[in-house]
Amino acid sequence: MCKKAGLLVGWDTVARRALVTRADCGSWGCPECAVRMREQWVLRAQIGVRQYIGAGEHVDFITITSHEKLPDFASTERVWSKAWPVLYAALKRRSSKFQFFIVPEKHKDGRMHVHALWTADVTQKWLKDNARKRGLGYQAKRKPVEDAGRAVGYVGKYIGKSIGDDAPPRFRRVRVSQGWPKIPVPVTNTAALKWEYCGTNGALAAIYQMAQAKHYAMIDLETGEYFDDIDLGTIVHEAWAG
Ligand SMILES: [Zn+2]
Repeated sequence: MCKKAGLLVGWDTVARRALVTRADCGSWGCPECAVRMREQWVLRAQIGVRQYIGAGEHVDFITITSHEKLPDFASTERVWSKAWPVLYAALKRRSSKFQFFIVPEKHKDGRMHVHALWTADVTQKWLKDNARKRGLGYQAKRKPVEDAGRAVGYVGKYIGKSIGDDAPPRFRRVRVSQGWPKIPVPVTNTAALKWEYCGTNGALAAIYQMAQAKHYAMIDLETGEYFDDIDLGTIVHEAWAG
């Protein structure tokens, strides 16, 4: 619930009311959203590692560096984008149930390092050789993860860390394999509502009209009071505009 995005309106047909809350812009550049997203990713890392270790699987904390000849973040990121699918395929051949949680980091020398929690059981030597073959750095590290708490310590400090201005637009700050466990969705009494996003004053006007026509009260979900009018004209965040 940050100040950059619009509103979410939940239509409650049972109690005949519309619940209004702020949407999230979901941008790492937004201080409120960055804190929330970081917490969620840290939790998701933890849930995954706990599940894998609990099931007797092996989890490693991995660091892969970039090629020493590449000068900056943009070039190291480009090489990584090409190298990773090939490296992934090789890892998948060795561990068919391979799952990963990857956090790219902007290292203090400005280039990209990649940190990961993963379930592939490959040696440090294998990793070094194979990363190098794909144009990555000759330094790669592998460290067995003993418990979920430690896993959080390893990756937590890189999640949400600034990556500067030369990162590509829409750069993904965390990349997870499809099978990495998700955070269980809590069952709440708002989960059954029909939600819609409202990003402009025009859309809000239509919602007022709809609520009036249905004789629904509009309630601010944060305060529990009647919803106060709000100007959405100029604060729609770019992430929602496209
Ligand atoms: Zn935000």
